[in-house]
Amino acid sequence: MAKIIDGKAIARDIRNEIKVKVDELKAQGKQPGLAVVLVGEDPASQTYVRSKERACHEVGMYSEVYRLSAETTEEELLTMIDQLNANEKIHGILVQLPLPKHIEEKKVIDRINPGKDVDGFHPINVGDLFTDTARFVACTPRGCVELLDRMGVEIKGKKAVIVGRSNIVGKPVALLLLHRHATVTICHSRTQDLQKECLDADILVAAVGRPQMITADMVKEGAVVIDVGINRLADGRLVGDVDFESVKEKAGMVTPVPGGVGPMTIAMLLLNTLEACK
Ligand code: NDP
Repeated sequence: MAKIIDGKAIARDIRNEIKVKVDELKAQGKQPGLAVVLVGEDPASQTYVRSKERACHEVGMYSEVYRLSAETTEEELLTMIDQLNANEKIHGILVQLPLPKHIEEKKVIDRINPGKDVDGFHPINVGDLFTDTARFVACTPRGCVELLDRMGVEIKGKKAVIVGRSNIVGKPVALLLLHRHATVTICHSRTQDLQKECLDADILVAAVGRPQMITADMVKEGAVVIDVGINRLADGRLVGDVDFESVKEKAGMVTPVPGGVGPMTIAMLLLNTLEACK
């Protein structure tokens, strides 16, 4: 029976540690500030933005939230980014994705000052991740590695298999684990024998977006399984990419969904903002 990795409790510990650091900075007359920009009325994005705003307040950070109409033009959004880049109270800027179709995401992300890019999506930070010199690493990938560290999982020399090769999760997780001296395999939709690859993993990271596709017969006895997936089933239940019930009987450790990687994403956003202020 696997140890369940309590991402909620770990994220809470991290937020408490951040709050102590924020209080220290405030005593020196500094306060980390995060600006979140939301364009349009996508309900999931609205929920994410509200949680980010709440998390900022809880740790004593300054926050500004801009809720712009779906009709906002690209030029207007770029002008707002310029203003936030110049705003001394703001150390981190996050533009909630996805953006409406008439706005080119890349153009907007490219405009954010890389020193304020707490989402870690700016090409300079993405490029620096390649050489392990990034100022900011994307929050979800960083959260995955932080979970392993906090659980005392040795990464060096281990065989890590990442299922998913997206720019925002799969690839950055793979690079982070490689920098930590894991032997890394990245799988995707064209991988020939996914089960065979997964069965090799000491550390298995699922970032696919397919409900419960990683089943116990794909997991090595005692492996550490990190489930990044967030999928809503027809009956309204939220599940990961891992079939939690069967996998927990075989894995050594496994993250639940919800309550695993999810809470870590916001904790890492706060950590990136704290580091941006320092
Ligand atoms: P993407 O859709 O961008 O990428 C999915 C990846 O999975 C692709 O590389 C795709 O391969 C691969 N894939 C799809 N089907 C299969 C298959 N049958 N076998 C093997 N590989 C497959 O998703 P994201 O990376 O953006 O997100 C992944 C999941 O993580 C989603 O559920 C998302 O909701 C969740 N997520 C959770 C976050 C959190 O805070 N916890 C944050 C971000 C995402 P190919 O490249 O060949 O198409």
